[in-house]
Amino acid sequence: MDETIKKLCDECLQCKKPLCVNGCLVNNNIPLFIKLLKEDKIDEAFKIIDEKSTLPSICSIVCPFEKACMNSCVKGKINKSVNIPLIENYIATHAKNTNKPLPYNNKNIALIGSGPASLACGEKLALLGYKVDIYEKFSEAGGILTYGIPAFVLDKKLVKDKINYLKRLGINFILNKELKKDFTINSLKEKYDAVFIGIGAGKKKKMNIKNEELENIIDANDYLKENYLNNFNNSLYKNIIVVGGGNTAIDAARVAKRSSNNSNVTIVYRRSENEMPARKNEYENALNDGIAFNFLTNPVEFIGENKVSKTKCQKMKLVQSDENRLKPVPIENAFITLDSDLVILAISSYIDVDVLDEVSLNSWGGIIINDKYQTSIENVFAGGDCVSGPLYVATATKDGVNAAKYIDEYLKSSH
Ligand code: SF4
Repeated sequence: MDETIKKLCDECLQCKKPLCVNGCLVNNNIPLFIKLLKEDKIDEAFKIIDEKSTLPSICSIVCPFEKACMNSCVKGKINKSVNIPLIENYIATHAKNTNKPLPYNNKNIALIGSGPASLACGEKLALLGYKVDIYEKFSEAGGILTYGIPAFVLDKKLVKDKINYLKRLGINFILNKELKKDFTINSLKEKYDAVFIGIGAGKKKKMNIKNEELENIIDANDYLKENYLNNFNNSLYKNIIVVGGGNTAIDAARVAKRSSNNSNVTIVYRRSENEMPARKNEYENALNDGIAFNFLTNPVEFIGENKVSKTKCQKMKLVQSDENRLKPVPIENAFITLDSDLVILAISSYIDVDVLDEVSLNSWGGIIINDKYQTSIENVFAGGDCVSGPLYVATATKDGVNAAKYIDEYLKSSH
């Protein structure tokens, strides 16, 4: 075993009450996989991780571990948390995946969307002997892993390797097929023994401010996708504004800075640095890339003829509120105007309720499921961001793994 990894494993206290497990977004048995790795049982360590998460090589890079497992690690209260993601990544990279699919059981499942929830659900079902078809509206599978997270954050080879592995398991990816346009949930329900909906929450959110329809104002998800497909010429723009404070805003700003001809890229965020939902290391990476931040600033109007040229913003202050974080409120008559020939909106996204009219939704558009991931339609299940709203790759993966278990249980008990 690599000496550095061995040292990291030695740092784990093998706690009787391992708080890291509670902190982990998928509740992985962290001390056990560390113990097995120390005993040179790397394939067994992989199996422990694989019980809860089918994307360890990816989650060990994109998971917000500093807010999750590492934040809860008992060792961190004494001096420094165990570097759990590095250990997980080592296992994911070096272990042999010895899983073998069971023989075909004559049952077929359709999965809608090919992001983390469906990839996890499909993998578990394929291993249980189901024939799995995954329907994807775009030309490549992977959802946010392919189109959303930039390659300098997540090596796309990891995503391609996973998809190729799933194809070898027999999973069929049906690309360029969109829910509501090319098929309906009920049409799949008739054709398959069960259906899983994992379409995520990637629908753009508007700011609803003056002149938002001007050219060169683009949604961050669309922007990242167009950049992934090499369809976007960033060097046409001198002053790029990104609105938002989450990881998508940081990703979009870093893509803009790296792909443009040294344009000025500024993130405009209505709260302060302390309230930014983005991961701290990503914020630091953005600063290192030369991205400017304009905190406590909120766009109120876009200015320009046909194309945006300036963004009028109001300065904000933070006040206490009933929510669990400080609330931004406008400061009267405090405005600034920023030059901006490209504006990227990364102000959260939501679930595309227009394509989900066949299942029951809650008041904010999330698919209603019971504790067995079943929707209002009996053999239709759902998980990931289209149920929870935008969360993490790890939480979507966890939902996919759990849903596969309940789909299997349902089909075994009802047929
Ligand atoms: Fe090891 Fe930290 Fe988990 Fe304790 S809390 S078992 S030290 S990783």
